[in-house]
Amino acid sequence: MTDIIVVGGGPAGMTAALYALRNGKSVLVLEKHGFGGQITYSPKVENWPGTFQMSGNAYADAFLEQILNQGAEVDLAKVIRVEDRGAVKAVFTEDGQEYEAKAVILATGVKHRMLGLPGEAELIGEGVSFCAVCDGDFFSGQTVCVAGGGNSALQEAILLAGKCRKVIILQDLDALTGEQKLQDALLARDNVEVHTGVAVTALNTESGVLRGVTVQRRADGQILQIPCDGLFEAIGLIPENDAFRPLADCNDWGYFDSDERCLTKTPGLFVAGDCRSKAVRQLTTAAADGAVAALAACRYLDA
Ligand SMILES: Cc1cc2nc3c(=O)[nH]c(=O)nc-3n(C[C@H](O)[C@H](O)[C@H](O)COP(=O)(O)OP(=O)(O)OC[C@H]3O[C@@H](n4cnc5c(N)ncnc54)[C@H](O)[C@@H]3O)c2cc1C
Repeated sequence: MTDIIVVGGGPAGMTAALYALRNGKSVLVLEKHGFGGQITYSPKVENWPGTFQMSGNAYADAFLEQILNQGAEVDLAKVIRVEDRGAVKAVFTEDGQEYEAKAVILATGVKHRMLGLPGEAELIGEGVSFCAVCDGDFFSGQTVCVAGGGNSALQEAILLAGKCRKVIILQDLDALTGEQKLQDALLARDNVEVHTGVAVTALNTESGVLRGVTVQRRADGQILQIPCDGLFEAIGLIPENDAFRPLADCNDWGYFDSDERCLTKTPGLFVAGDCRSKAVRQLTTAAADGAVAALAACRYLDA
């Protein structure tokens, strides 16, 4: 039987695998989509400490090679359920397999909610972004739109307003919904324009790169063409934790309710990375969680 099954092969899951392997445990990582997680959407990462610049894919490939070299087993499969049998956990995948392990680490990450427009997925990294902290510098001196009007959108917009020539907020509701303090900070900038009650209806491109968006005003149906170099989408994150709720509590937003110790209410079940409740969702914090969860799992196994 495997010592530890890690669900999710993103930065948190692969870091957990690395730390568990180096503590002499056998590890199986089950990933439903592609190893590397969200960061594979990023063509340029410039805030991984000690590395000047790398692509998300290069990071993911090197990381996968690193854990394979350390002896990880990996498989492409979607985990649909974990069953607690005390000292043994049964892990079930969508393709009908059942695996057993002594401990499980859930590192299932989040999905960014998308607008659902044609060509959107292909434009990620070519103008469409979900992370101003990560990608804002690429748009210095340019014009960007931010889709959304809640706290995340306003924070993204404030950060972008410090770098970009112009920031245009596109909020589908009739008012911004983020905190007043954030609204005040944003509206104090003279390079910010706000459109409320508008829906983004198309992404306009030239040679495969975003060049603008089409929006429609809900009140009168009027169509506006807005030229821009980037579109930051901040319309919510979607944790993918529902299948595991019986064994791990989630907060009102669906994130695993766990602190920096990465524990759940089920002994032998741990959580790591963007899937848990936390203030900052980045590579560094995902990796930190992976290490913490793996060492907690090792301690649990050795007790
Ligand atoms: C476009 C973009 C650019 C970014 N740029 C940066 C940056 O420059 N710097 C930075 O620090 N951060 C950046 N981030 C954020 C960073 O990528 C995340 O914080 C980090 O990837 C979180 O790691 P994670 O392992 O917790 O989750 P994820 O990366 O979300 O990985 C979770 C993995 O679990 C898998 N999974 C989910 N459910 C299941 C299941 N049931 N069974 C099997 N597998 C499952 C998913 O397929 C996924 O591969 C960026 C994010 C995006 C989207």
